[in-house]
Amino acid sequence: MIRPSYSVPFPARGSIVSSREACALTELLNGNQTLSMGKWRTRFEEAFADLHGVPHAISVTSGTVAVELAIAVLGLRPGDQVITTPQTYHATVQPLLNYGVDVSFCDIEPDSSNISPERLESLITARTKAVLLVHYGGCIADMSAITRIAQRHGILVVEDCAHAVGATTADGRRPGSLGDIGCFSFQNSKNITTLGEGGMITCYDARIAERIRRIRDNEYDGDITIHPPTRHEPVLLPWMKYAEDVYRHTVTKVHRAGTNATMSEAAAAVGVVQLERLGVVTAQRQAIARQLDAVMCRYEFASPQRPRGGDTHAYHFYTFQLETPDPATRDELVLDLDRRGIEIQLRYFPQHLLPEWRAHGHGYGECPVAERNWFTSHVNLPCHPGLDAYQVEHLVTAVDAAFGAVSGATASSPFPQQRPQLSASIE
Ligand SMILES: *Cc1c(COP(=O)(O)O)cnc(C)c1O
Repeated sequence: MIRPSYSVPFPARGSIVSSREACALTELLNGNQTLSMGKWRTRFEEAFADLHGVPHAISVTSGTVAVELAIAVLGLRPGDQVITTPQTYHATVQPLLNYGVDVSFCDIEPDSSNISPERLESLITARTKAVLLVHYGGCIADMSAITRIAQRHGILVVEDCAHAVGATTADGRRPGSLGDIGCFSFQNSKNITTLGEGGMITCYDARIAERIRRIRDNEYDGDITIHPPTRHEPVLLPWMKYAEDVYRHTVTKVHRAGTNATMSEAAAAVGVVQLERLGVVTAQRQAIARQLDAVMCRYEFASPQRPRGGDTHAYHFYTFQLETPDPATRDELVLDLDRRGIEIQLRYFPQHLLPEWRAHGHGYGECPVAERNWFTSHVNLPCHPGLDAYQVEHLVTAVDAAFGAVSGATASSPFPQQRPQLSASIE
């Protein structure tokens, strides 16, 4: 089959990469610097922590690994409960399969696609240890409500910020600093990239940071006491320093094995430049979104994701719900946009309906809003700085024309004045 080439593709690259990144790489490669665990990694982590207003930022090789390590340090035991979202990429929830924990999928708000705080509170039990949420598409979840609930019940909040780098709250804070642990991805399609793959973990707690660093750097995650030198200690030459350190460690408890998830110096060097670009590439995404918003306003059946009052949106993609009486209309709209050269990728299939979660007793009916959205109303549009002015114009015009066709087709059928009540039935 020949792949169609789209006038407006979903991103080949989510960010802009140019000669500035190439300069940083040239400086690294032409010098005699180390290519692993050097100054670039430190610079990238410090700049990232600074921007996010957190004391610790730990770079890793991918967003998936960031989530894995964040979950690893939660100390989950079989029978514990973790509450998470069905509306995300499977890398968010898949690591939970390894822990024998009860996973509760918390239904989403119809417009934001983020977990609903009311629903979250109703799912909490004495066994709940953590809530693992996503800022879907770059729209910040209702964090003040969610953290209030979490604090009241003594639950940790892990934020998957894979879409949300660049977003800000009304008071200038950023995803990754709003809960206890934040996870970021710098994969090729994400809003900034570290040569195609990479990730970051942010946190406040020094002990959690230390444990994550150990796992990342090929050590084990353990509770360690360090003893002062005793007279029985062997005499060590300087090159035996490592042995001396290890000799003085007493481990009271090993939690988990470590791995090597070290970001390369090349990736970190690109990351430093990409972080300097973040403001510009985010503004480019927001400018495209404003033009799409202007189209959405004119059609009562389109409900775009809207940032909460005063928040800014990182627009990893542009998301809206299409509310028409006939559920088949969404599919027709998607096909129409495809014919007009707009590449549509619907993201993401509800997680609780995937086979690995159905095998654990999850299934249809568990998250009616997420299911209803996915099967009848959810649409994502491309929205990224790789689009030039002509492509943006083409996108906006095509959406307007496709909406016009929907209006024409449904003009005879009465529109509900209010959005339909979602709780009753999803058929
Ligand atoms: C991309 C993504 C991840 C995984 O990041 P990688 O860097 O691709 O491993 C995790 N969660 C969400 C929501 C993502 O979009």
